[in-house]
Amino acid sequence: MEKQTNCKDKDCPFHGRLKARGRIFEGRVIKKFPRRVVIEFERMIYVRKYERYKKSKTKLHARLPSCLENQISLNDLIQIQECRPLSKIIHFVVIKKIKSSNEK
Ligand SMILES: [Zn+2]
Repeated sequence: MEKQTNCKDKDCPFHGRLKARGRIFEGRVIKKFPRRVVIEFERMIYVRKYERYKKSKTKLHARLPSCLENQISLNDLIQIQECRPLSKIIHFVVIKKIKSSNEK
């Protein structure tokens, strides 16, 4: 990881005290707030009644560390990892950007 001394975010997994552990998901940013993003991704869910899989969308809220705030914009593909609950709805943190929305 490159050094970034201007990051004073205590909930940053790289420069702060927050430890990211647990499950990792990838998804597209559908909403962006200061210090928080909402991502959405598709997953397959098994429906027992019909013995088939169906596609279902999941939305997750994730903490956006201040050092990543300028890099991530709407529709970007990003990776988030589970961390301790930061609020009622946030228990994930953004760990990296995979693709920009303008990249194919
Ligand atoms: Zn940071």
